[in-house]
Amino acid sequence: MTDVLVAELRDALGPRGWLDPADAGSVLTGWRKAYSGTPVLVARPDTVEGVQAVVRACADHAAAVVTQGGNTGLSGGSVPIDDLPDGRPSVLLLTSRLNRIESVDPDRFTATVQAGCTIEQVQQAAAAVDRQLAMDWGARGTATVGGAIATNAGGLNVLRYGNTRRHVLGIEAVLADGRVFDGLRALRKDNTGYDLKQLFIGAEGTLGVVTRAVLELQPALAHHRTLFAALTGLDRATDLYGLARSIDAGGLTAFELVPEMGVAAAVDVLGITRPIDTRAEWYLMARFSGAAGSPTPSWPRPPPRRPTSGCSGTSSLPRSSSTRRGPSSTPPSRSTGSPSSSAASRPLPPGSAGRRRSCSRSATSATATCTSTCCRPSSTAGGSPPTWSPPSPPRSTASSGTWAARSAPSTASARTCSAA
Ligand SMILES: Cc1cc2nc3c(=O)[nH]c(=O)nc-3n(C[C@H](O)[C@H](O)[C@H](O)COP(=O)(O)OP(=O)(O)OC[C@H]3O[C@@H](n4cnc5c(N)ncnc54)[C@H](O)[C@@H]3O)c2cc1C
Repeated sequence: MTDVLVAELRDALGPRGWLDPADAGSVLTGWRKAYSGTPVLVARPDTVEGVQAVVRACADHAAAVVTQGGNTGLSGGSVPIDDLPDGRPSVLLLTSRLNRIESVDPDRFTATVQAGCTIEQVQQAAAAVDRQLAMDWGARGTATVGGAIATNAGGLNVLRYGNTRRHVLGIEAVLADGRVFDGLRALRKDNTGYDLKQLFIGAEGTLGVVTRAVLELQPALAHHRTLFAALTGLDRATDLYGLARSIDAGGLTAFELVPEMGVAAAVDVLGITRPIDTRAEWYLMARFSGAAGSPTPSWPRPPPRRPTSGCSGTSSLPRSSSTRRGPSSTPPSRSTGSPSSSAASRPLPPGSAGRRRSCSRSATSATATCTSTCCRPSSTAGGSPPTWSPPSPPRSTASSGTWAARSAPSTASARTCSAA
């Protein structure tokens, strides 16, 4: 029976449409190396019809279909297992050849893409028309749109933009009997009956193979400011989250807990400068962003410095720091990295090459360190930037963290700076 299935699939897919499991290599093992298995065939369809042919043949022969996108999922759903309870054979269906961006519409803020496109591919297509795909996480260069939909992936920008579910306007999927579910809509105000596409989001491929999607794009963000704090304890994280939201609720895009292990690995492997000198078990990275065309994100006028504030360190933060990524700019190439290291490893934006720097200065109560990654001379050029000490978080009596700015003007006068 298995031989018949394999012969049928090879015929239907053509010579480039399948792999012998013996030649398939890493796709048989999950990202964490915790799961692996051998399917009877690895199918690589490049059309919806090809996907239908695979699913139909597997249904006819009672074989399991395991769909795989970038194979970056961490729970083993993307690889076959050898000992299925009922002894069924399995076919591994790769979406890697369903990798075309079909259209990007900057006016409607949408992108219609095939399921095997990587997140980074869509990000780059959006950036080319001055838009952004706000879905973003460390595996962006490998994880696919289909995988993101199947896992309802989150990532770095969830606070502001939500999980994958919030970005999906439409879905096309091949169902278990080979029929196509056509929910490929771009209409935001679609209030017609049941919203069936939602069932596929987070279903881990159990309801069908997602083949195409319409994703919502956002305005490109031009202004970014990043705070990096060393924590004295994990219990400070929620205080600082409240503080970050109160500083700029609408602009807070990322708030990430980073272990020292992650910082050390980023420094060691990528050769970057430590974002902060203070050593701690845990750090926080908060990122604030403003849209293109808007003025600098609105920041409250810094309160006077309080040497005994809950966040003991002091940093000079610019009133304005922006990097414009225009339509013609080349998006930085991004590599897969751990979620915690991704912020630290983010490459310099265009126009700032060679300007990554490490600055340090002594403050009344602590030494703060800032690493500038995306700065250009700000509106404070020629003068000292305003000095800002974070207000005390609630319940704070002792020093709880040291804040440092990673987005600082290149003209900062009260620092000693050295090129990294
Ligand atoms: C360095 C790193 C950082 C990460 N950071 C995050 C993070 O911040 N947030 C987060 O949520 N996850 C994160 N992940 C997990 C992972 O990247 C996501 O779950 C991602 O969505 C998986 O996409 P994929 O294309 O690799 O899917 P795969 O690993 O190939 O598959 C995952 C699941 O989706 C199913 N699937 C894949 N494609 C389809 C399809 N076309 N149709 C139907 N089902 C399909 C598979 O069968 C499987 O069940 C991270 C992983 C790594 C390695």
